[in-house]
Amino acid sequence: MHALLIAVPGALTTVGVIAYGAGYPRAQLFGRTICRTNSARKLALTFDDGPNPTITPRLLDLLDRYNAQATFFLIGRYVRECPELVQETVARGHLVGNHTETHPNLFRRTQREIRIELRLCHDAISNALGSPPKWFRPPFGMRNPWVIPAARELGYGTVMWTLIPGDWREKRPEWLIPRMQPIADRAQRSLGNGSKADSAPTGDILCLHDGAHREMNGDRSRTLAALEYWLPRWRDLGLEFVTIQEAVSTPAA
Ligand SMILES: [Zn+2]
Repeated sequence: MHALLIAVPGALTTVGVIAYGAGYPRAQLFGRTICRTNSARKLALTFDDGPNPTITPRLLDLLDRYNAQATFFLIGRYVRECPELVQETVARGHLVGNHTETHPNLFRRTQREIRIELRLCHDAISNALGSPPKWFRPPFGMRNPWVIPAARELGYGTVMWTLIPGDWREKRPEWLIPRMQPIADRAQRSLGNGSKADSAPTGDILCLHDGAHREMNGDRSRTLAALEYWLPRWRDLGLEFVTIQEAVSTPAA
């Protein structure tokens, strides 16, 4: 056989494996990540790309109505512009995490650039709160071999998701709401009539956006509308809304 016929499929496989490791939410190729909660009862709501003065305060009020705690992965340059909003988010029981300084695709960045992106956001949040965050989410979920080790150097665990419904797209809430249906379907299967919670020992991490990485005051009202629809329904299914810290802590007996 011609050498090329052997080499080309091999190269394609390598490209495929790298693409999987870089972008697939639950891939562990480039280092360990958290992709699920440790109980079917626990739903971890996560919001990326804030703080956003036009949306985050309304979201905090909505979460309060359902006694929901969430995790916010913040962009460092926005944190510097509205540190009070970050302080308020934490004062109301939520966790904040590092989502880099400027939201680049880290797959294309060098080890040095990655360290700078993480460090600047780390400092911005630490200055706003007086203590550093413990959780990190890479922008676009993209990793290369240096991303997770760089996060670990600063003491971070890296967090991905089970569901990312695409709330950044310019669509109506009627488009977004059905894309969040899998959460209710799984809850119904594992928590519904007669089923044991142990039959599905893990729960969902949902990735939504209260901010927009291209501009600070991005419109995320469709995300709020979809949550207005789902939060009471998820609560009635028996789901508890937890931070990432609670998502990985030992479940209550
Ligand atoms: Zn993001």
